[in-house]
Amino acid sequence: MDNGRYSAFEESDFESRIVSSGYTDSEDSETELTLRPKTMDEYIGQDKVKENLKVYIDAAKQRGEVLDHVLLYGPPGLGKTTLAGIIAAEMGVNIRVTSGPAIEKQGDLAALLSGLGEKDILFIDEIHRLNRSVEEILYPAMEDYALDIILGKGPSARSLRLQLGHFTLIGATTRAGQLSTPLRDRFGVMLKLELYTPAQLKEIIMRSAKLLSTEITDEGAMELASRSRGTPRIANRLLKRVRDFAQVRGTGMIDREITDYALEKLEIDRLGLDNIDRRMLKTIADCYDGGPVGLETLAATVGEEAVTIEDVYEPYLMQIGFLSRTPRGRCITRPACEHLGIEFPSRQDKKPQSGQQTFRFDD
Ligand code: ADP
Repeated sequence: MDNGRYSAFEESDFESRIVSSGYTDSEDSETELTLRPKTMDEYIGQDKVKENLKVYIDAAKQRGEVLDHVLLYGPPGLGKTTLAGIIAAEMGVNIRVTSGPAIEKQGDLAALLSGLGEKDILFIDEIHRLNRSVEEILYPAMEDYALDIILGKGPSARSLRLQLGHFTLIGATTRAGQLSTPLRDRFGVMLKLELYTPAQLKEIIMRSAKLLSTEITDEGAMELASRSRGTPRIANRLLKRVRDFAQVRGTGMIDREITDYALEKLEIDRLGLDNIDRRMLKTIADCYDGGPVGLETLAATVGEEAVTIEDVYEPYLMQIGFLSRTPRGRCITRPACEHLGIEFPSRQDKKPQSGQQTFRFDD
Protein backbone atom coordinates (compact mmCIF):
# COMPACT_ATOMS: atom_id res chain seq x y z
CA MET A 1 0.00 0.00 0.00
CA ASP A 2 2.91 2.25 0.63
CA ASN A 3 5.25 2.69 -2.27
CA GLY A 4 7.86 4.07 0.10
CA ARG A 5 8.45 0.59 1.49
CA TYR A 6 11.90 -0.86 1.16
CA SER A 7 13.30 2.58 0.43
CA ALA A 8 16.46 1.43 2.19
CA PHE A 9 17.11 -0.92 -0.73
CA GLU A 10 16.62 1.63 -3.52
CA GLU A 11 20.21 1.48 -4.65
CA SER A 12 20.26 -2.27 -5.21
CA ASP A 13 18.90 -4.35 -8.10
CA PHE A 14 16.24 -5.47 -5.68
CA GLU A 15 13.86 -2.79 -7.00
CA SER A 16 14.18 -3.93 -10.59
CA ARG A 17 14.05 -7.61 -9.83
CA ILE A 18 11.03 -9.36 -11.32
CA VAL A 19 11.03 -12.05 -8.64
CA SER A 20 11.52 -9.58 -5.81
CA SER A 21 8.70 -9.80 -3.33
CA GLY A 22 8.66 -6.02 -2.85
CA TYR A 23 6.76 -3.58 -5.03
CA THR A 24 8.39 -2.52 -8.29
CA ASP A 25 6.11 0.06 -9.84
CA SER A 26 2.81 1.86 -9.46
CA GLU A 27 1.08 -0.38 -12.02
CA ASP A 28 1.79 -3.31 -9.73
CA SER A 29 0.39 -1.65 -6.64
CA GLU A 30 -2.75 -0.68 -8.58
CA THR A 31 -3.54 -4.23 -9.70
CA GLU A 32 -2.51 -5.50 -6.27
CA LEU A 33 -5.57 -3.72 -4.91
CA THR A 34 -7.80 -5.63 -7.37
CA LEU A 35 -6.20 -8.96 -6.56
CA ARG A 36 -6.09 -8.55 -2.80
CA PRO A 37 -8.49 -11.00 -1.11
CA LYS A 38 -11.12 -9.26 1.01
CA THR A 39 -12.48 -12.13 3.11
CA MET A 40 -11.00 -15.00 5.10
CA ASP A 41 -12.48 -17.49 2.57
CA GLU A 42 -10.77 -15.77 -0.36
CA TYR A 43 -7.48 -15.81 1.52
CA ILE A 44 -5.81 -19.02 0.34
CA GLY A 45 -3.48 -21.13 2.52
CA GLN A 46 -2.02 -20.18 5.94
CA ASP A 47 -4.63 -22.53 7.43
CA LYS A 48 -3.15 -22.63 10.94
CA VAL A 49 -3.00 -18.84 11.15
CA LYS A 50 -6.53 -18.45 9.81
CA GLU A 51 -7.96 -21.07 12.14
CA ASN A 52 -6.49 -19.46 15.26
CA LEU A 53 -7.38 -15.96 14.12
CA LYS A 54 -11.01 -16.97 13.59
CA VAL A 55 -11.16 -18.14 17.22
CA TYR A 56 -9.67 -14.89 18.55
CA ILE A 57 -11.99 -12.79 16.37
CA ASP A 58 -15.13 -14.75 17.35
CA ALA A 59 -14.19 -14.66 21.02
CA ALA A 60 -13.59 -10.89 20.98
CA LYS A 61 -16.86 -10.35 19.10
CA GLN A 62 -18.86 -12.53 21.50
CA ARG A 63 -17.46 -10.62 24.48
CA GLY A 64 -18.05 -7.31 22.73
CA GLU A 65 -14.39 -6.51 23.30
CA VAL A 66 -11.60 -5.15 21.17
CA LEU A 67 -9.27 -7.72 19.53
CA ASP A 68 -5.91 -8.08 21.27
CA HIS A 69 -2.84 -6.58 19.51
CA VAL A 70 -1.58 -8.81 16.69
CA LEU A 71 1.95 -9.21 15.31
CA LEU A 72 2.23 -10.77 11.84
CA TYR A 73 5.67 -11.86 10.71
CA GLY A 74 7.23 -13.55 7.69
CA PRO A 75 9.02 -12.63 4.44
CA PRO A 76 7.62 -9.82 2.25
CA GLY A 77 4.76 -10.57 -0.13
CA LEU A 78 3.15 -13.38 1.90
CA GLY A 79 -0.06 -11.52 2.74
CA LYS A 80 0.46 -9.61 6.00
CA THR A 81 -1.16 -6.37 4.80
CA THR A 82 -3.96 -8.37 3.17
CA LEU A 83 -4.63 -10.29 6.38
CA ALA A 84 -4.78 -7.06 8.41
CA GLY A 85 -7.51 -5.77 6.06
CA ILE A 86 -9.41 -9.04 6.39
CA ILE A 87 -9.21 -8.92 10.21
CA ALA A 88 -10.72 -5.42 10.12
CA ALA A 89 -13.52 -6.59 7.82
CA GLU A 90 -14.29 -9.62 10.02
CA MET A 91 -14.32 -7.44 13.15
CA GLY A 92 -16.48 -4.87 11.31
CA VAL A 93 -14.16 -1.97 12.18
CA ASN A 94 -12.13 0.65 10.32
CA ILE A 95 -8.43 0.23 9.61
CA ARG A 96 -5.74 2.93 9.31
CA VAL A 97 -2.68 1.80 7.39
CA THR A 98 0.79 3.23 7.90
CA SER A 99 4.39 2.03 8.11
CA GLY A 100 7.23 2.31 10.62
CA PRO A 101 9.44 4.65 8.56
CA ALA A 102 6.47 6.95 7.79
CA ILE A 103 5.99 7.79 11.48
CA GLU A 104 8.89 10.13 12.12
CA LYS A 105 7.91 11.96 15.31
CA GLN A 106 6.05 11.13 18.50
CA GLY A 107 3.42 13.68 17.45
CA ASP A 108 2.71 11.75 14.20
CA LEU A 109 1.86 8.62 16.14
CA ALA A 110 -0.10 10.56 18.78
CA ALA A 111 -2.22 12.11 16.00
CA LEU A 112 -2.85 8.69 14.41
CA LEU A 113 -3.83 7.11 17.72
CA SER A 114 -6.12 9.91 18.85
CA GLY A 115 -7.85 9.85 15.45
CA LEU A 116 -8.90 6.19 15.84
CA GLY A 117 -12.52 5.34 16.63
CA GLU A 118 -13.52 2.80 19.32
CA LYS A 119 -12.26 -0.74 18.39
CA ASP A 120 -10.57 0.54 15.20
CA ILE A 121 -7.39 -1.06 13.91
CA LEU A 122 -4.06 0.66 13.36
CA PHE A 123 -1.85 -1.32 10.97
CA ILE A 124 1.87 -0.51 11.10
CA ASP A 125 3.84 -2.24 8.36
CA GLU A 126 7.60 -2.67 8.91
CA ILE A 127 7.03 -1.99 12.58
CA HIS A 128 10.67 -2.90 13.32
CA ARG A 129 11.66 0.35 11.63
CA LEU A 130 9.86 2.61 14.14
CA ASN A 131 12.31 4.87 15.89
CA ARG A 132 12.80 4.35 19.62
CA SER A 133 11.23 7.62 20.79
CA VAL A 134 8.08 6.88 18.77
CA GLU A 135 8.06 3.34 20.13
CA GLU A 136 7.93 4.67 23.70
CA ILE A 137 4.60 6.39 22.98
CA LEU A 138 3.27 3.04 21.85
CA TYR A 139 3.89 1.20 25.14
CA PRO A 140 1.26 2.98 27.31
CA ALA A 141 -1.04 3.20 24.29
CA MET A 142 -0.97 -0.58 23.79
CA GLU A 143 -1.16 -1.43 27.48
CA ASP A 144 -3.48 1.17 29.01
CA TYR A 145 -4.97 2.89 25.91
CA ALA A 146 -3.34 6.07 27.12
CA LEU A 147 -1.13 8.77 25.62
CA ASP A 148 1.49 10.36 27.86
CA ILE A 149 2.21 13.84 26.65
CA ILE A 150 4.97 16.08 28.04
CA LEU A 151 4.06 19.75 28.04
CA GLY A 152 6.85 22.33 28.18
CA LYS A 153 10.56 21.79 28.75
CA GLY A 154 13.01 21.72 31.66
CA PRO A 155 11.91 22.03 35.29
CA SER A 156 8.48 23.39 34.38
CA ALA A 157 7.67 20.39 32.14
CA ARG A 158 4.45 18.62 33.05
CA SER A 159 3.16 15.25 32.00
CA LEU A 160 -0.41 14.87 30.86
CA ARG A 161 -2.18 11.57 30.35
CA LEU A 162 -4.83 11.44 27.62
CA GLN A 163 -7.21 8.51 27.46
CA LEU A 164 -7.61 6.86 24.05
CA GLY A 165 -10.43 4.69 22.77
CA HIS A 166 -9.84 0.92 22.82
CA PHE A 167 -8.04 -0.07 19.61
CA THR A 168 -6.12 -2.97 18.09
CA LEU A 169 -2.59 -2.54 16.82
CA ILE A 170 -1.59 -4.91 14.03
CA GLY A 171 2.14 -4.84 13.39
CA ALA A 172 3.87 -6.51 10.43
CA THR A 173 7.55 -7.34 10.21
CA THR A 174 9.82 -9.62 8.23
CA ARG A 175 11.36 -11.03 11.41
CA ALA A 176 9.92 -11.02 14.92
CA GLY A 177 13.48 -10.98 16.26
CA GLN A 178 14.02 -7.49 14.83
CA LEU A 179 11.54 -6.01 17.31
CA SER A 180 12.64 -4.71 20.68
CA THR A 181 11.61 -7.00 23.54
CA PRO A 182 9.30 -4.49 25.27
CA LEU A 183 7.39 -3.93 22.03
CA ARG A 184 7.20 -7.64 21.15
CA ASP A 185 5.95 -8.49 24.64
CA ARG A 186 2.98 -6.17 24.26
CA PHE A 187 1.46 -8.20 21.42
CA GLY A 188 -1.09 -10.72 22.70
CA VAL A 189 -1.19 -12.61 19.40
CA MET A 190 1.89 -13.48 17.31
CA LEU A 191 1.36 -15.20 13.99
CA LYS A 192 4.03 -16.45 11.62
CA LEU A 193 3.19 -16.63 7.91
CA GLU A 194 4.86 -19.45 5.98
CA LEU A 195 5.94 -19.66 2.34
CA TYR A 196 3.11 -21.12 0.21
CA THR A 197 3.15 -24.55 -1.45
CA PRO A 198 2.98 -24.72 -5.28
CA ALA A 199 -0.58 -26.12 -4.98
CA GLN A 200 -1.70 -23.10 -2.92
CA LEU A 201 0.05 -20.70 -5.30
CA LYS A 202 -1.69 -22.38 -8.22
CA GLU A 203 -5.03 -21.67 -6.56
CA ILE A 204 -4.01 -18.03 -6.04
CA ILE A 205 -2.92 -17.76 -9.70
CA MET A 206 -6.21 -19.26 -10.96
CA ARG A 207 -8.16 -16.78 -8.82
CA SER A 208 -6.06 -13.82 -10.00
CA ALA A 209 -6.33 -14.88 -13.66
CA LYS A 210 -10.11 -14.89 -13.30
CA LEU A 211 -10.07 -11.40 -11.76
CA LEU A 212 -7.84 -10.21 -14.61
CA SER A 213 -10.14 -11.89 -17.18
CA THR A 214 -7.26 -13.98 -18.50
CA GLU A 215 -7.59 -17.56 -19.65
CA ILE A 216 -5.08 -19.97 -18.14
CA THR A 217 -4.68 -23.75 -18.35
CA ASP A 218 -4.10 -25.99 -15.33
CA GLU A 219 -0.60 -26.79 -16.55
CA GLY A 220 0.25 -23.14 -17.17
CA ALA A 221 -0.89 -22.21 -13.65
CA MET A 222 1.06 -25.08 -12.08
CA GLU A 223 4.23 -24.11 -13.95
CA LEU A 224 3.92 -20.49 -12.84
CA ALA A 225 3.21 -21.59 -9.27
CA SER A 226 6.31 -23.71 -9.01
CA ARG A 227 8.44 -20.80 -10.20
CA SER A 228 7.00 -18.18 -7.79
CA ARG A 229 9.28 -18.77 -4.77
CA GLY A 230 6.43 -19.61 -2.42
CA THR A 231 5.24 -15.98 -2.56
CA PRO A 232 1.80 -14.75 -3.74
CA ARG A 233 3.09 -11.29 -4.67
CA ILE A 234 5.63 -12.88 -7.04
CA ALA A 235 3.01 -15.30 -8.41
CA ASN A 236 0.70 -12.39 -9.28
CA ARG A 237 3.52 -10.38 -10.82
CA LEU A 238 4.73 -13.29 -12.98
CA LEU A 239 1.14 -13.94 -14.03
CA LYS A 240 0.84 -10.37 -15.31
CA ARG A 241 4.11 -10.56 -17.22
CA VAL A 242 3.25 -13.93 -18.79
CA ARG A 243 -0.16 -12.51 -19.72
CA ASP A 244 1.68 -9.81 -21.70
CA PHE A 245 3.67 -12.43 -23.61
CA ALA A 246 0.55 -14.53 -24.20
CA GLN A 247 -1.27 -11.51 -25.62
CA VAL A 248 1.54 -10.30 -27.92
CA ARG A 249 3.39 -13.52 -28.83
CA GLY A 250 0.68 -16.14 -28.32
CA THR A 251 -3.05 -16.65 -28.52
CA GLY A 252 -3.89 -14.82 -25.30
CA MET A 253 -4.30 -18.12 -23.44
CA ILE A 254 -1.67 -18.80 -20.75
CA ASP A 255 -0.56 -22.39 -21.25
CA ARG A 256 2.60 -24.31 -20.36
CA GLU A 257 4.34 -23.36 -23.60
CA ILE A 258 3.92 -19.58 -23.37
CA THR A 259 4.77 -19.71 -19.64
CA ASP A 260 8.05 -21.47 -20.43
CA TYR A 261 8.77 -19.01 -23.23
CA ALA A 262 8.05 -15.91 -21.10
CA LEU A 263 9.98 -17.09 -18.07
CA GLU A 264 12.95 -17.95 -20.23
CA LYS A 265 12.88 -14.38 -21.56
CA LEU A 266 12.70 -13.13 -17.95
CA GLU A 267 15.66 -15.40 -17.10
CA ILE A 268 13.78 -17.18 -14.36
CA ASP A 269 14.64 -20.85 -14.16
CA ARG A 270 12.55 -23.95 -13.39
CA LEU A 271 12.71 -23.32 -9.64
CA GLY A 272 12.09 -19.58 -9.80
CA LEU A 273 15.72 -18.55 -9.35
CA ASP A 274 16.95 -15.47 -11.22
CA ASN A 275 20.40 -14.12 -12.04
CA ILE A 276 20.98 -12.72 -8.58
CA ASP A 277 20.21 -16.02 -6.84
CA ARG A 278 22.47 -17.85 -9.24
CA ARG A 279 25.23 -15.29 -8.81
CA MET A 280 24.99 -15.53 -5.05
CA LEU A 281 25.14 -19.34 -5.02
CA LYS A 282 27.98 -19.43 -7.55
CA THR A 283 29.91 -16.88 -5.50
CA ILE A 284 29.70 -19.14 -2.44
CA ALA A 285 30.84 -22.13 -4.52
CA ASP A 286 33.60 -20.43 -6.52
CA CYS A 287 35.01 -17.74 -4.24
CA TYR A 288 34.50 -19.36 -0.83
CA ASP A 289 34.91 -23.03 -1.65
CA GLY A 290 31.27 -23.71 -0.89
CA GLY A 291 31.29 -21.77 2.40
CA PRO A 292 30.85 -21.04 5.19
CA VAL A 293 30.88 -17.38 4.29
CA GLY A 294 29.65 -14.61 6.60
CA LEU A 295 26.52 -12.68 5.64
CA GLU A 296 28.26 -9.29 5.43
CA THR A 297 31.07 -10.67 3.27
CA LEU A 298 28.59 -12.36 0.97
CA ALA A 299 26.51 -9.17 0.72
CA ALA A 300 29.56 -7.11 -0.23
CA THR A 301 30.69 -9.67 -2.83
CA VAL A 302 27.32 -9.83 -4.61
CA GLY A 303 26.60 -6.12 -4.15
CA GLU A 304 23.42 -6.46 -2.10
CA GLU A 305 22.32 -5.24 1.32
CA ALA A 306 22.74 -7.91 4.01
CA VAL A 307 19.13 -7.34 5.13
CA THR A 308 17.86 -7.92 1.56
CA ILE A 309 19.75 -11.19 1.36
CA GLU A 310 18.33 -12.31 4.71
CA ASP A 311 14.73 -11.25 4.14
CA VAL A 312 14.23 -11.72 0.41
CA TYR A 313 16.66 -14.28 -1.06
CA GLU A 314 17.49 -16.67 1.74
CA PRO A 315 14.07 -17.85 2.96
CA TYR A 316 13.30 -19.49 -0.39
CA LEU A 317 16.82 -20.80 -1.03
CA MET A 318 16.77 -22.41 2.40
CA GLN A 319 13.28 -23.78 1.94
CA ILE A 320 14.32 -25.62 -1.23
CA GLY A 321 17.50 -26.81 0.50
CA PHE A 322 19.99 -24.87 -1.64
CA LEU A 323 21.55 -22.91 1.18
CA SER A 324 22.34 -23.93 4.72
CA ARG A 325 23.17 -21.76 7.69
CA THR A 326 25.88 -22.68 10.14
CA PRO A 327 27.07 -20.59 13.08
CA ARG A 328 30.05 -19.59 10.91
CA GLY A 329 28.13 -18.53 7.82
CA ARG A 330 26.27 -19.66 4.72
CA CYS A 331 27.10 -22.85 2.80
CA ILE A 332 25.96 -24.07 -0.60
CA THR A 333 24.44 -27.57 -0.71
CA ARG A 334 24.94 -30.43 -3.15
CA PRO A 335 21.44 -30.12 -4.72
CA ALA A 336 22.15 -26.43 -5.44
CA CYS A 337 25.37 -27.34 -7.28
CA GLU A 338 23.55 -30.04 -9.24
CA HIS A 339 20.86 -27.52 -10.22
CA LEU A 340 23.45 -24.96 -11.33
CA GLY A 341 25.47 -27.63 -13.18
CA ILE A 342 28.63 -26.91 -11.18
CA GLU A 343 30.83 -29.23 -9.18
CA PHE A 344 30.15 -29.56 -5.46
CA PRO A 345 33.28 -28.10 -3.82
CA SER A 346 35.37 -31.05 -2.66
CA ARG A 347 36.16 -29.38 0.69
CA GLN A 348 32.46 -29.60 1.57
CA ASP A 349 32.60 -33.41 1.41
CA LYS A 350 35.20 -33.53 4.16
CA LYS A 351 33.32 -31.21 6.48
CA PRO A 352 30.75 -32.54 8.90
CA GLN A 353 27.53 -31.56 7.11
CA SER A 354 25.40 -29.20 9.12
CA GLY A 355 22.39 -30.47 7.21
CA GLN A 356 19.59 -28.26 6.10
CA GLN A 357 18.69 -26.03 8.92
CA THR A 358 15.19 -24.88 9.48
CA PHE A 359 15.00 -21.17 8.84
CA ARG A 360 13.92 -19.14 11.80
CA PHE A 361 12.76 -15.60 11.27
CA ASP A 362 14.03 -14.53 14.64
CA ASP A 363 17.53 -15.90 14.14
P1 ADP B 1 2.90 -8.40 2.69
O1 ADP B 1 2.12 -7.34 3.43
O2 ADP B 1 3.16 -9.63 3.52
O3 ADP B 1 4.16 -7.88 2.03
P2 ADP B 1 0.60 -8.37 0.92
O4 ADP B 1 -0.50 -8.56 1.91
O5 ADP B 1 0.81 -6.99 0.39
O6 ADP B 1 1.97 -8.94 1.49
O7 ADP B 1 0.32 -9.41 -0.28
C1 ADP B 1 0.84 -9.25 -1.57
C2 ADP B 1 -0.16 -9.66 -2.62
O8 ADP B 1 -0.25 -11.07 -2.65
C3 ADP B 1 -1.57 -9.14 -2.37
O9 ADP B 1 -1.90 -8.07 -3.18
C4 ADP B 1 -2.50 -10.29 -2.69
O10 ADP B 1 -3.05 -10.10 -3.98
C5 ADP B 1 -1.61 -11.49 -2.74
N1 ADP B 1 -1.88 -12.41 -1.63
C6 ADP B 1 -1.20 -12.45 -0.45
N2 ADP B 1 -1.65 -13.45 0.32
C7 ADP B 1 -2.64 -14.06 -0.37
C8 ADP B 1 -3.48 -15.19 -0.08
N3 ADP B 1 -3.37 -15.88 1.05
N4 ADP B 1 -4.40 -15.53 -1.01
C9 ADP B 1 -4.50 -14.85 -2.18
N5 ADP B 1 -3.71 -13.79 -2.51
C10 ADP B 1 -2.78 -13.40 -1.62
